[in-house]
Amino acid sequence: MEKNFQAVVVDNKEGNFSVETKHVFLEDLSSGEVVIKVHYSGVNYKDGLASTPDGKIVRSFPHIPGIDLAGIVVSSEDSRFKEGDPVIATSYEIGVSHSGGYSEYARIPADWIVPLPTGLSLKEAMIIGTAGFTTALSVQRLLDNGMKPENGPVLVTGATGGVGSFGVAMLSKLGFEVVASSGKKEAEDYLTSIGASSVIGREEVYNGKVKALDKQLWAGAIDPVGGESLAAIISKITYGGSVAVSGLTGGGAVPTSVFPFILRGVNLLGIDSVYCPMEKRRAIWERIANDLKPENLSAFVFKEISLKQLPEELPTILEGGITGRIIVSVE
Ligand code: NDP
Repeated sequence: MEKNFQAVVVDNKEGNFSVETKHVFLEDLSSGEVVIKVHYSGVNYKDGLASTPDGKIVRSFPHIPGIDLAGIVVSSEDSRFKEGDPVIATSYEIGVSHSGGYSEYARIPADWIVPLPTGLSLKEAMIIGTAGFTTALSVQRLLDNGMKPENGPVLVTGATGGVGSFGVAMLSKLGFEVVASSGKKEAEDYLTSIGASSVIGREEVYNGKVKALDKQLWAGAIDPVGGESLAAIISKITYGGSVAVSGLTGGGAVPTSVFPFILRGVNLLGIDSVYCPMEKRRAIWERIANDLKPENLSAFVFKEISLKQLPEELPTILEGGITGRIIVSVE
């Protein structure tokens, strides 16, 4: 491997916040048993936060962000991996307190690495990324809690975003009638093309008021939006249905009441991708490579960019204007 290589470095020298592509050395990377030549990474909401001074994600500077990476093992001090293995590394401290995927090389603890499952390319794994992995976890939890296509339509919020887009595609692939909620009127064709049965505006989910119990509309929901909108969803879930909540693009406070839970047996399922145990993580990636894999993954790519383009592209994800996923080609 090269002595020095390119990486995106976030720094905060004497209060001067900067995001730049720079040359770094292997010693600049956090420690780990496995060195990986990164081929692809992606842009997640958390990566956007890591690139802004008020993001509260990065704890020490300088730092290389990128919570997702996929590549080929260059060297390994752990017997589970060897040179030439294709691997995925996401979650844990990667891109947060451990140097991440926005770099030509990454050094990662073996315990955090998943072998690339058969049926996925490195690029496809990063089109899916943490967003799609979180969706697959949500789908698994909903199925484990009894959600079935015959129970009725299911809702996916933030439907043009990473988690939401995969929610639409994966649930429709499993035979569910998917109602996609989006703030983007122009996205109807996209959402229908990836599997939505119908598309509704955000205001049809939450119109400024939350009733304790509302008309029962959806048998389940994948919700990366949170906030008041989540409270409205809970009040509209059918008897015994479930909501898998993974995000907070719409806010952190959820003004709900006990009534949907005690009168309709509604389940609120918390989804965390970061510390998902390794055994379950591998099983979920296997499902992603098989029955949950969307038909045409290239349809989810909003943009493919290089490391050099990242500093200017990173903040855009925080504006909520992206349809699908931005992926980063590091080759
Ligand atoms: P994206 O930015 O790709 O998508 C978010 C979508 O939410 C937007 O595209 C938009 O969709 C919608 N949205 C944006 N702002 C608002 C708003 N004010 N009110 C309602 N909807 C809004 O992000 P991701 O899909 O990658 O992540 C979504 C959330 O999930 C984030 O909060 C992220 O931190 C979290 N997350 C959590 C994980 C976990 O392990 N729990 C892992 C990964 C992500 P539209 O315009 O179609 O409505």
